[in-house]
Amino acid sequence: MKLLVIEDEIKLSGYLRKGLTEAGYLVEVANDGIEGLHLALEGDHDLLLLDSMLPGIDGLSLLATLRRTKQTPVLMLTARVEVEDRVRGLQTGADDYLLKPFAFSELLARIQVLLRRAGPRHDAEPTVLRLADLELDLLRRKATRAEQRLELTAKEFNLLTLLLRRQGEVLSRTELASQVWDMNFDSETNVVEVAIRRLRSKLDVPFERPLLHTVRGMGYVLEDRPA
Ligand code: CA
Repeated sequence: MKLLVIEDEIKLSGYLRKGLTEAGYLVEVANDGIEGLHLALEGDHDLLLLDSMLPGIDGLSLLATLRRTKQTPVLMLTARVEVEDRVRGLQTGADDYLLKPFAFSELLARIQVLLRRAGPRHDAEPTVLRLADLELDLLRRKATRAEQRLELTAKEFNLLTLLLRRQGEVLSRTELASQVWDMNFDSETNVVEVAIRRLRSKLDVPFERPLLHTVRGMGYVLEDRPA
């Protein structure tokens, strides 16, 4: 499922891109209203996250223009608390509102509600990822194996999500470092190896069949290999 984030605060848009990607969405980002409107009109997005205060074209004007031709669900993000702004936004055609600062879990929950409301085509969209007896519930941020809860840290959960979404594919340390830790790989640090070791101790060690495999000199792959 494809989301468009229109947000001029670079830090926030980066955070949203990362979090929503990890939650399993395809994410496109625009950092001003003009680019945002262009992408929203041209693209085939399932949902828009729209900041209300934007350079170029402000959120409400963008929304009004968009609504002339498109009914893409819109979740407005706003720092303003005034009730009248919210009312104006809803009258203009926003589907929901979220006040900044917001908890990421609430954002995810609201996105789910809007997508569900938008139509049956979204019902089949997986929010639970599986491999063998491993199950990852992306909304509840819950990991289980053989129905036993795995107590993972946030980073371990994100790491496992990435590996699971791309199961069968060898992911290099560099890629994992940049995707999960948002850092460029520095050969001095062994952050990925340490995290993999910890993850493995929870994911594989207590169980009979390992799912997380090291590919020497290449990286790591999550897959269910025949015994
Ligand atoms: Ca803004």
